[in-house]
Amino acid sequence: MGTWDYSVFWKETLSQINNELTEQEFTMWFNMEYEMSQESSITISVPSGFYRDQVQQRYQKILEAKLYELSGQHISLVFEVKPRKKPEVSEHTPEKNVDTSSQNNNVDTKYLSSVQKNTEKPQKQESHPQLRKEYTFANFVIGENNTFAANAAIAIAKNPGIAYNPCLIYGGVGLGKTHLMQAIGNMAWTEGESKIIYISAENFTNEFVESIKNNKTQDFKNKYRNADMLLIDDIHFLQKKDSTQEELFHTFNALYDYNKQIIFTCDRPVSELKNLSERLRSRFERGLNVDLQPPTYETRCAILSKKTDARGVKIPQEVLNLVAKNISSNVRDLEASLTKLIAYAELTKKPVTLETAQQQLRDSFGAPKQNNVTIEVIQKVVAEYFSLSFSDIKGKKRTKAISFPRQLAMYIAREITEYSTTELGIEFGGRDHTTVMHGCQKIEERLKAEPSLETTIQKLNKLIKDYNS
Ligand code: ADP
Ligand code: MG
Repeated sequence: MGTWDYSVFWKETLSQINNELTEQEFTMWFNMEYEMSQESSITISVPSGFYRDQVQQRYQKILEAKLYELSGQHISLVFEVKPRKKPEVSEHTPEKNVDTSSQNNNVDTKYLSSVQKNTEKPQKQESHPQLRKEYTFANFVIGENNTFAANAAIAIAKNPGIAYNPCLIYGGVGLGKTHLMQAIGNMAWTEGESKIIYISAENFTNEFVESIKNNKTQDFKNKYRNADMLLIDDIHFLQKKDSTQEELFHTFNALYDYNKQIIFTCDRPVSELKNLSERLRSRFERGLNVDLQPPTYETRCAILSKKTDARGVKIPQEVLNLVAKNISSNVRDLEASLTKLIAYAELTKKPVTLETAQQQLRDSFGAPKQNNVTIEVIQKVVAEYFSLSFSDIKGKKRTKAISFPRQLAMYIAREITEYSTTELGIEFGGRDHTTVMHGCQKIEERLKAEPSLETTIQKLNKLIKDYNS
């Protein structure tokens, strides 16, 4: 036995890392415990093999570099898997919040007493009755917009009740909340977890009301309080449903005390929910809160490719790119457009071309057509935005400082008005329609290379819309 003790260095390393990472990232991966020091190493325990692999891959180098910086010695980190033990008797845990900002390695005690999952459970073949079997991680495309949420979800699926409990996934409509939540359920299910309940907050409410009506509240309580994993979708629905909130609060406590995994989704951050009891809000906010953002252009292309492959159809890449470019709001709309194109191809038995795609998807593409917007307004707003004169935009000068805003104005006019390229050409100083098409193309190319241009266009659109009001 040596007499080395590097625990101070370890503590300081953690505290520095905590300052450098986002709170989410730190909470997610730094559930580590200092075990012991040896001559040139520190042993750290983590709750599972999955954690060990992830942490080694992500942080080992950084951590060792910090240790070296602080101690002046090469100290290596040895990660040891030490499943956290289940409490003997699960007595009532007092209310407390997870202190994600704690600067030491005293991780949440609730977490420390988490259950070690029984790995002997049989793998299941048949699918879960409430979960859609295609909502898997394999079918979920990971992009910048959702990396953190997807990683958290995988960690939870691999260590239900051990990793992050509860977990709340929030984000706008059609961004994959339900998919991700069910992917966790599906993975846990195939790995042998049996009592998984998935339910929308709406159906949870209806069932609860029904149980009161039929004098069956005890059955209701038994069902939900005995789950091993509870997935409740769209909790924003619970606003103003006071007695359901109350019931969910008790369900939550019962499951949480037994380290059962609880996952919620919501269409906005919990802090923005109104008409929600404070105590339930604090339960939702406990644990890990992760958000889903709208997918970037690249991710949208990847999603479309994946979905066409999955359906076994061939659609030219340029068509997929066109759809990805025009439908940026969410994944559900992307899928709907794709379905429309596939249906068209099947019905007409013709391949989908750029032209047919434009035609078929005209209504879903771009900003809604604003008929009362005149080309003149667009030209004025764009000119002003780029500190040019109105006549510059319409005129013949072709310096870069002028031709880019001019092309942008053409592009916007093409997007938000019904004018043809010929009409636009006339309005833009008597130009040929091919010049207008060329201008729009230039902007489209630039949009691909610099997504920030999209923000400029959105700003201009807003200015145009507000011009007359
Ligand atoms: P939400 O619950 O956030 O409204 P959903 O989970 O219902 O959204 O997702 C809408 C559709 O988009 C689903 O068909 C889902 O499979 C798909 N989807 C969402 N995100 C992704 C993704 N990252 N990769 C693949 N498909 C996705
Ligand atoms: Mg949903």
